[in-house]
Amino acid sequence: MITRHLRAAALSLVTTVLVPLAFSQQQSAPAPKRTLVRAGHLLDVKTGRSADAQTLVIVGDMIQAIAPTVSTPVQPGDTVVDLENLTVLPGLIDVHTHLTMNTDFDPYRELITTDAREAINGVANARTTLLAGITTVRNVGAGGYTDVDLRDAIDAGQVPGPHMQVSGPPLGITGGHCDDNLLPAQYHQVGDGVADGIAEVQHKVRQNIKYGANLIKICATGGVLSKGDDPQASQYTLEEMQAIVADAHRLGRRVAAHAHGAQGILWATEAGVDSIEHGSYINDEGITEMKKRGTYLVPTLYLEDWMLQYGNLPPFYHQKMVDVIGVAKGNIKRAMQAGVKIAMGTDAAVYPHGLNAHELDVYVNQLGMAPLAALQTATINAADLMGWTAKTGTLEAGKWADIIAVDKNPLDDIRVLQDVKFVMKAGVVYKSPAK
Ligand SMILES: [Zn+2]
Repeated sequence: MITRHLRAAALSLVTTVLVPLAFSQQQSAPAPKRTLVRAGHLLDVKTGRSADAQTLVIVGDMIQAIAPTVSTPVQPGDTVVDLENLTVLPGLIDVHTHLTMNTDFDPYRELITTDAREAINGVANARTTLLAGITTVRNVGAGGYTDVDLRDAIDAGQVPGPHMQVSGPPLGITGGHCDDNLLPAQYHQVGDGVADGIAEVQHKVRQNIKYGANLIKICATGGVLSKGDDPQASQYTLEEMQAIVADAHRLGRRVAAHAHGAQGILWATEAGVDSIEHGSYINDEGITEMKKRGTYLVPTLYLEDWMLQYGNLPPFYHQKMVDVIGVAKGNIKRAMQAGVKIAMGTDAAVYPHGLNAHELDVYVNQLGMAPLAALQTATINAADLMGWTAKTGTLEAGKWADIIAVDKNPLDDIRVLQDVKFVMKAGVVYKSPAK
């Protein structure tokens, strides 16, 4: 953002000028510039309690303090953000996005999409996602490390977007969900993340980390939007996944496993992955093992509703989608009720970016999850899964100033999160309420 650039430039100017003065005159630097966010109602996503008339004091990209508005008078130089008619809460987190991809059910278009075009898609989609109130994402799959560059461009302030953790190309077996199976053999088309056997998967994990991945994404089972594979069939073996997890964890990276089929869910969990994505055919064995290990489940369910209404799938995807839709919500509901930890993911890209918060509506109004628990899947739990609890997920001093505001308390109506009025990320305002 231009404002951010200017601010960065101004800060560096101040530093350059002041350092010699500080040495010569022993003066302390001027008090850092503050932004006061005046919250009409401040929702604590840990407890569900709402406090009226609170002020968040923002300095740089962090929350410095939170205190009643009456005890936080404006000081000279402060900027004041008036959200006195709104409910303020932490920015939401989506742990399953594909920001560099667009909604498109002509799979052959993928084959003519360049990495450069993917990156450009990412710039547009990152902005849309941020303006929808998603201030952090975990991006689980992109071609050509376009997600790495998108993350870095956002972090450098070149383009607006959420905080990102990115996986680079997802690992998968030859002919599996994470391969490209659209062309006959003479074209030698192979997905970026294809790796078979222990040595190859180790190499691919190390290669993804070399080129900037924050986490490792794997395809443990078949998928829906891929040709010639079966969502219920396991793809990686237990041994391959154990090798992936061992390397990733040793190198400080978490592992997310795409898994629909029950056996793949169980094997991936036993191998020690940190999250199961989708989980459509999860059974009692999988539920028990995930609970035992504290593995997160990342359901991606709103896409089913969207797909039924708008999806125009080619025949080799269609039946798989119908089959998965027939069972996924029931199975996920059982896992939720059994107490498996849930983090909100959406698979946005399968449906248009920016509709992310519809996922929470499914949890609450279709699966019966308590609204506070649903909100926690997109805040506290998601931050925990990403290893970013110290940075985001709640509004507390010392965390990023990632703040959104809505018209009413989302615990009374979770759908209000589909219409976010205010977005601040890392202390920078990206969206303000209409006057
Ligand atoms: Zn996905």
